[in-house]
Amino acid sequence: MAKSKPATVPVLLPLALPAPYDYAVPEGMTVREGQFVVAPLSTVDYLGVVWPRDESAEPPKLDPKKLREIIEVVDDVPPLPRVSLDFADWVARYTLSSPGMVLRMMMSAGRAFSPPAPRYGVRLLEGSAPSRMTPARARVLEVAGNGMTWAKSALAEAAGVSTGVIDGLVDAGTLITEELPAWAPPHLDLSTARARLTPEQADAAAELLANMNDGFSVTLLDGVTGSGKTEVYFEAIAATLAQGKQALVLMPEIALTSHFIARCEQRFGAKPAEWHSGLSAPLRGRVWRAVAENQAKLVVGARSALFLPFPDLGLIVVDEEHDAGYKQEERVTYQARDMAVLRGSLGQFPVVLSSATPSIESLVNASQGRYRHIKLEQRYKAARLPDIVTIDMRTSPPERGKWLSPVLVEAVAETLARGEQALLFLNRRGYAPVTVCRNCGFKFECPNCSAWLVEHRFRRRLECHHCGTFAPIPEVCPNCGAEHSLVPCGPGIERIDEEVAALFPEARRVLLSSDLTPGVSDLRETLREIEDREIDIVIGTQLVAKGHHFPGLALVGVVDADLGLTHADPRAAERTFQLLNQVTGRAGREVIPGRGLIQTYMPEHPVIQALASGDRDAFLAREIEARKAATMPPFGRLASLLVSAGARDAAESYARSLARAAPAAQKIEVLGPAEAPLAVIRGRFRFRLLVKAAREADLQAYLRLWLKEAPKPKGDVRLTIDIDPYSFL
Ligand code: ADP
Ligand code: ZN
Repeated sequence: MAKSKPATVPVLLPLALPAPYDYAVPEGMTVREGQFVVAPLSTVDYLGVVWPRDESAEPPKLDPKKLREIIEVVDDVPPLPRVSLDFADWVARYTLSSPGMVLRMMMSAGRAFSPPAPRYGVRLLEGSAPSRMTPARARVLEVAGNGMTWAKSALAEAAGVSTGVIDGLVDAGTLITEELPAWAPPHLDLSTARARLTPEQADAAAELLANMNDGFSVTLLDGVTGSGKTEVYFEAIAATLAQGKQALVLMPEIALTSHFIARCEQRFGAKPAEWHSGLSAPLRGRVWRAVAENQAKLVVGARSALFLPFPDLGLIVVDEEHDAGYKQEERVTYQARDMAVLRGSLGQFPVVLSSATPSIESLVNASQGRYRHIKLEQRYKAARLPDIVTIDMRTSPPERGKWLSPVLVEAVAETLARGEQALLFLNRRGYAPVTVCRNCGFKFECPNCSAWLVEHRFRRRLECHHCGTFAPIPEVCPNCGAEHSLVPCGPGIERIDEEVAALFPEARRVLLSSDLTPGVSDLRETLREIEDREIDIVIGTQLVAKGHHFPGLALVGVVDADLGLTHADPRAAERTFQLLNQVTGRAGREVIPGRGLIQTYMPEHPVIQALASGDRDAFLAREIEARKAATMPPFGRLASLLVSAGARDAAESYARSLARAAPAAQKIEVLGPAEAPLAVIRGRFRFRLLVKAAREADLQAYLRLWLKEAPKPKGDVRLTIDIDPYSFL
C-alpha cells in the first residue's frame, strides 16, 4: 500500500468534524492506512487515524505545500484494521453522525495509546518472618508460601485480610515488592467438558454450525427462557475459536453477567475478556490492546464492545436481542443489534441473535427469509415454564393504601412456607412517583423538567428522574404552608418493600434497583446472595428481569402489569410483553415449579392475555399485522428530529422552519413539529418532527438533502437526529 509514498493522506480526528482532513506526510515518514498518527488542528495536536481516501468524493484542491504535516506515527499501537475503518464510515453514514465521533467511540480506551505502566506485586522473602506475628499475618505467610508474586489485592483476598496487613508486612521487610508480568488475556481451553445437549438443543446447534463457514448470515435463536440457548450458541463460539478467530458476545446489561462469565469459564477454561463502562482505565487500555493484537479471543461486552478493533472477528452473538438497552441514545445514536448485523456483513461472518421474546423486527426478518430461524421450545430437563395467572385488581383489590392484592400476599406466604424464594417486580424506582399536598393539591414538579419529583424515602429526598435534581422532603407545603399535609401517591419499589416488611417481618428481603446498587461488584454480590438462597424475597425493577438464573425462585409477582401499556410508543405492547415474559421466566428454572402472578386492571388487554395463555405467536401475529397496516417499523422506517432550546419560542420557530424546508418526496412523510410529550428537560424546551418512510425509500439520503438546504440552528437551538428511534418522549 505504502509502496510509493503518497504526499498527502486523509486523517480522521476523533472530533465532530464532517470528514477526514488531508495532511502532508513529511520526508522520510511512511504511513499506512489505519495507523494512529499525531496531527495538528488549529493549536492542538490530536491522535487520529490515517483514513482511506473516499474515491467518490472530489479530490482535494488544497496546495500540498500549504497542508499541515503529520507530526508523528504511533507505531507501537496496532493500526485499525480496514474493516474497522469501513465500519466507522458505515455507522456514521447510517446514523447521520460525524465519522470522527464514531472513531472516538473506537478509541475510548485512552491508556491503550500510552506504554503500559508497570504493575507491582508482592512476594514472600524466603526464610523471612516478621518479629511480631498475628493470626492475620500468619495467614498471609501461609498463602504467600508458594513463592508466587501476588497482586496486593489478590493476596489480601486469598488470605482473607485487609490490604493494610499486606502493607505492614512490606514495611516489616517480610514481603518484597516486585514487578508483575505484563497482563495477558486468559488462555482459553477448548478441550474442557461440554454439556450433553438434549436432542432439541443438538438439532439447533447442528443447524447453527451448518452455516458457520458460509460467510455472512444472521440466525435468530428463538427459545423459551431456560431452554439452553446459551449452551447452543456456545457451540458456535467453540467452532469460531477452534478456527483461531475472535468471538464477541453482546449483553444488554453487562453488570449482570457474572453467571454468564462463570459459565464461559466452565466451558472454555478461562474467563472471557470483559468490556463495559465499569472497567478501570488501565484495564480498559489492556483489553483494547489485547483485542487489537488478536490476543483476546473471546470478549463479552456491552453495546460499545462492537467498536473494539477486532482484526479477526468471526462471530457476534447478541444475547437478549430484543432489549431496548441496545439502543444508544446519546451522542452517536445507534442500535447495537442492527450495527452487529452490519459488522457481520462487512466482516463476512455469522451473527446470532438470541432471545426468548425476539423483537418484531427480527421476527419479520426471519419470516421474510432474510434471517434463519431456529426455535427451542422446551425448558432444559425437568424445568417447566411457569404457570402464569392474572389477578384482576378490580375484583381482588388490595387494602386501602396498599398495593399487593390478597391473592398475591397469600401466594408469597405459601412460597416462603415452603422455603422457596419470591420476586416482586415493579418497574419504578423510589418510594412514590408523585407527592401531593392534601390541603391545597400542590404537586412537586421538577424546576427544570416537565416531570413530577419522585420521592426516594431511603435517601430522604425528592428526585427528578430526568435531570437528577433533588431536594430534601420539606416539612410544610411550599405552596400553602400546611403542616403534615404532604402525601405520597402511588408506589415505587421502596413502598412495596415497606408493605412486604410489615407483612413478612421475618423474611430476608433485598431491594434491587439501579439507584440502590450502583456498583457492578455490589450488584454481583447481591445476585450471588440470591442465587445461594440467602434472601427470601427480592423486590426489584427491570434490573432483576434480565438473564438471571436463581435456582430457588418459585414465585414472580408483577405488581403493576399495566405500567408500560399506556405509553404513546409504537412498541409499547411489544416491550411490555417482552419485559413481563422475561421477568416471569425467572421462576422455576430448575426443579422447583414456577408461578407468575400478574396484577392488572386490564386483564382483557391482548398483552396480558398473551402472557396468561402463553400464546405468544398469536399475539405477535396480531402485533405484526398492526405494524404492517400502519407501516410502522419494520414495515416502514422512522427518524426523529428533536429540536431543543432554552426558550420555547426559539425551539418552536426553528422546528417550524425546518418542517417548511422539508423537500417533497415519494413515500416519505414528515409529521410535526409537535411539542414532545416530555416538553421540557433540563430547562430545554423540546419539539419533535417524525419522518416516516417506506421501507424501500432512502431515508438517510433524504435527510442529508433536507439538512443541507434547511436553515441551520442558531444560538442555543440544538437539533438531534435519531434514526430508527426507540424513544418518543
Ligand atoms: P437460556 O439461555 O435459553 O435461558 P440456558 O442456556 O441459560 O438457557 O440454560 C438454562 C439452565 O439449564 C442453565 O443453568 C444451563 O446450565 C442448564 N442447561 C441447559 N442445557 C443444558 C445441557 N444440555 N446440559 C446441562 N445443563 C444445561
Ligand atoms: Zn428534572
